[in-house]
Amino acid sequence: MKLIFLGPPGAGKGTLAGIISKEYSIPQISTGDIFRDAIKRETELGRKVKEIVGRGDLVPDELTVSLVRERLAQPDAQKGYILDGFPRTIPQAEALGSFQKLDAVVDFAIDDALVIERLSGREICKNCGAIYHVKNMPSKVKGVCDKCGGPTYTRPDDSLESIKNRLEVYRQQTEPLIAYYGKKNLIRKIDSSKSPEDTHIQIRKALSKIV
Ligand code: ADP
Repeated sequence: MKLIFLGPPGAGKGTLAGIISKEYSIPQISTGDIFRDAIKRETELGRKVKEIVGRGDLVPDELTVSLVRERLAQPDAQKGYILDGFPRTIPQAEALGSFQKLDAVVDFAIDDALVIERLSGREICKNCGAIYHVKNMPSKVKGVCDKCGGPTYTRPDDSLESIKNRLEVYRQQTEPLIAYYGKKNLIRKIDSSKSPEDTHIQIRKALSKIV
């Protein structure tokens, strides 16, 4: 099953992509994770995108598209995948459409106020990428990942200034994709303001009509 998870930052795409990826045995492909990994390892790509990602701006389309094209050519992505955080612009969507046929686009609907609350308390495991929230979903021991014991941290782009910019960028550049994929009859809208369990049930329902 070839899926896109579309929605503002903090909507829960990453958390749910992790769950659905295991359930359907398809890889989760997160462009944000690819960029963060490159930044951490200080590769050439990492050096190119570090400032852009830190500000919450978008990495240029050409660079992002060529990365995704390479990733989708890997053997594990042939029978399906979840794209989490890609496409984020109409040109990215058009490029993807030129070489991939999608099954559905899950639209994670959520209000800005809730996004700000979620992102400003978010903590992430440095080792395995597991996601926590200081209030809503804390790790059992503060600063330590429940799953792998690694250290958790706050993403540099989860500062209030960068969160506001990411929301603005989402509204201007990414939200038009809802109408774009709506015309192709691919949109499955879900309410992602609830718990991860509730969102999971909604996604399962939406996808059951496809498989
Ligand atoms: P979030 O959804 O929480 O904003 P992501 O982990 O999806 O975070 O992305 C983090 C950052 O990586 C973005 O703010 C942007 O700078 C960059 N990025 C990720 N995906 C894309 C993309 N498809 N196009 C351009 N930039 C991207």
